[in-house]
Amino acid sequence: MINGQFISTIEKANTFVIEKDFETSSFKTAELKITALGLYKVEINGHRVSDYYMTPGFTSYNKMVQLQRYDISSLLKEGTNYISITVNAGWYCSGVMGPGYWYKFGDAPAVIAEIVVDSKSVLTTDTSWDARESFIRFSGIYDGETQDFVSPRKSLTPSVKEYDKSKIVEQIVEPVRDIERLSIKEIIKKEKNRAIYDFGQNMTGVVELHLPKGFVGTITLRFSEILINNELYVDNLRHAKVTDAFIVEGQTVVVPEFTFHGFRYLEVNGIDLDIKDISAIVRHTDLRRTGYIEVSHPRLQRLIDNVVWGQRDNYLDIPTDCPQRDERMGWTGDANVFCKTAAFNYDVRKFFKKWLRDMRNDQYEDGRISIIVPDTLETGETASIWCDSIIMIPYKLYEMYDDVSYLKDNYEAMKKYLQAQEDTLVNGLVGKGHQFGDWLSLDEIPQKQENYYLYFIANAFYYHCLKTVENISKILKNEEFAAICAQKANELLTNIREEYYQDNGLPKIDTVTALVLTLQLELVEEKNHQYVANKLNEEIIKRDYHVTTGFIGTAYLLFALADNGFLETAKKVMMVEGMPGWLYEVDMRATTIWERWNSLLPDGTPNPDGMNSYNHYAYGVVMEFIYRRIVGIEPLMPGFKEVKIIPSYIAGVDHVKGEFQSINGKIVSGYKISNNKITYSISIPKGINADIYLPNEGLVASGSGEFVFERTISK
Ligand code: BGC
Repeated sequence: MINGQFISTIEKANTFVIEKDFETSSFKTAELKITALGLYKVEINGHRVSDYYMTPGFTSYNKMVQLQRYDISSLLKEGTNYISITVNAGWYCSGVMGPGYWYKFGDAPAVIAEIVVDSKSVLTTDTSWDARESFIRFSGIYDGETQDFVSPRKSLTPSVKEYDKSKIVEQIVEPVRDIERLSIKEIIKKEKNRAIYDFGQNMTGVVELHLPKGFVGTITLRFSEILINNELYVDNLRHAKVTDAFIVEGQTVVVPEFTFHGFRYLEVNGIDLDIKDISAIVRHTDLRRTGYIEVSHPRLQRLIDNVVWGQRDNYLDIPTDCPQRDERMGWTGDANVFCKTAAFNYDVRKFFKKWLRDMRNDQYEDGRISIIVPDTLETGETASIWCDSIIMIPYKLYEMYDDVSYLKDNYEAMKKYLQAQEDTLVNGLVGKGHQFGDWLSLDEIPQKQENYYLYFIANAFYYHCLKTVENISKILKNEEFAAICAQKANELLTNIREEYYQDNGLPKIDTVTALVLTLQLELVEEKNHQYVANKLNEEIIKRDYHVTTGFIGTAYLLFALADNGFLETAKKVMMVEGMPGWLYEVDMRATTIWERWNSLLPDGTPNPDGMNSYNHYAYGVVMEFIYRRIVGIEPLMPGFKEVKIIPSYIAGVDHVKGEFQSINGKIVSGYKISNNKITYSISIPKGINADIYLPNEGLVASGSGEFVFERTISK
C-alpha cells in the first residue's frame, strides 16, 4: 500500500520537519501517499498539498492508522522539486489526556510518505531526509500552539520507527476542513495591547490574524466559552492551557496548524489589531448536511441551531464529548444518545463507519467495549449505554440508512460484548462492574439506593441489547442466535420485574427516568402500560414540566410521553420557561447545548463543579424529537422507504418546516398558522411511500407527491 519507512526523531517529541529535494522528469500523473503516527502538514514546492487538517485523524494508532492520497500533479514540476513535512504529536502523544492522563500511543510522532509518478515510486521517506525543528515550537490539542519565527531552528537526526504496515488502511471518514469563517461581533474590551472579543458563537476551530507589515513581537491568544465580569472564564478548561502564541518578525498572517479550541470569546495580547484582521475559522469534519428545521419562534430556532452547532463542534474526526477542556474524547455514551439526531442533520455514514471500526479495534479480549473510543484511557471500565454503543449505534444507522453492513460489520463484536455482559450477572441480573447511570441527572437519589438504581438502568439496557441483537440476528438470518437472545431476554425480564418492579407495574425506584425506561425499553407488562404512562405524565406535571433527567432519561423522555398519549405534555416540557429546561439555556445566551441543565446558574454564574462544559451535545436529542414528532417524519422501514408523516403544531409557534434528505429522497413536512387556519404542507418523493396523519384526524392520505391540507384550529 505504501513504501518507505516511518521517520521520527527522538530529539524532538512534539513537532519536527523532514524535507527532501527530488527530481522529476515529464509526467502524466503524480500521487502522494502519506500517513503519520501523530499529525502532519505537507508542502510541495512551498504549497500546501491539501485543504485537509488534523490528518491522518484520530485512531488507536497502534491498531489502525488511515492513509491519505493526494493528487499532486499540479504541484510537481519537471526538474528539482522540494517536499517538506511537518509532524506533530497530535492525538498520538501530546500532553495530558483527561485529568491526570496522557496520550500514550507512543513516545514521539512519526511519518511515512511516498510519491508515485506515472505508477512508479520516485520518493519514499527514510533516514536520508533532512530533519529540523519547526517554527511550530509546540502544539497540543489541549494547550494550544506556539509558533516562533525568530529563534534559530536546529537540525535533528531522523530515525526509523518500526510500525506494522498491515495496520494502515485507506482513509474512511471525510476529512477535517476549514468550514466557515466568523468575524468579531462585539468588542468586549479594548486596552493598550489587550482586547477581548465576542464571535457571537461557541465554535470549534482556530483564530487567524492578519498582522501589519513589519510587526515584530509576541502575540498571545486565549479563549473561553463564557465571560465573567467581562473577562474570560477559563476554570472549566481545567488542565488545558488553550493558549496560542506567535513570536513574529515580519510575518503577515498567522494561524495555528495542529490544535483546535472550543470558544466564543477571544483575548488578544501583545498587539492592537483592527477587528477586520481577526477571524475565527470553524474547523471540523466536512459532512454533508441532510436535515434542516426552521421555525417562526426565535428562541426555539436558537435552540435548534444550538444543537446543530453542538454537533459541528464535536464532530471533529470522531464524536467527541466537548471541544474545549482537557477531554475532547470519544465518549461512547454521548455518541450513542445523539446518534439519530446527528444522522438527521448530516450524512454520518462514513463518520460512524470509521468510528465503529475504532470501537471494534479497541474491544477487549473478553468482549468488553471501551467507554471511550479511541481508547486513550484503557480503564477497562464499562457502563451500559456507553458500551452498548456497539449494538445500539449500528442498529440506529441501519434504521436511518437501510445499510445492513453496519449490522454485519459489528455482529461478531456485538455477540462478544453480550458475552461480556453475561459475565457480569449475579443471580440472573447485571450486578457487577462500573456504571454511569443516568449521567448528570438532577434527581436526588438516596445514597443507599444509588447502586440499586445504577444496576436497574444497567439491566434495563442489557435487556434492550438482547432484544436488539435478537432482531439483528433475524435480519442477518441467524435464527439460532435470535432464539438464544430471545430466551435470555425473557429470563432477564422475569428477574428484572421481580427485583425492580411493584405489582402495579411501577418501578420501585422513584425517578422520571425509571418510568421512562420502563415504557420505552418495554419492561412493563401490557396490562400496566397505560397506568405507568399516566404516572409519568403526573410526575412531569408535578414538576411543572421541568425535567431533571440525565443523559439517558432525556434521550427517551419526550418520546415516552408523546407515544403514550401525552404529546401535549412533551411539547410543554420542550418549551418550558426557566431552569431546568431547554429554552432556559437559550435565555442565558447559549449558542450551543450545555453539559448540564444548570451549567450556568440563574444569577449568571457558572456551576461551580469543575466538569462544566458549554458545548456537550447529549441534551441536543431534543432535535430528534422535533424531526420525528413535530415536523413528524417517522420512518416505518429502514432508510425511510416507508414513512409515517404526522406533523404536530406547538402553541405559539406559527410556522414549522423541516426537511430530511433520506437515502430514498427528500422528505418535507411542516405547517403554517394564520388567522385560525393551519396549513400543513408535505412533500414526499417518488420511491417513498408515506402514510400521512393529521392531529385528531388520523390517516388522511397515502403515497407520494405534494400534499396540502388546510384546517381550522378549534379554540
Ligand atoms: C464526559 C462525558 C462522558 C462522561 C462519562 C465526562 O467527563 O465529558 O460527556 O460521557 O464523562 O462519565
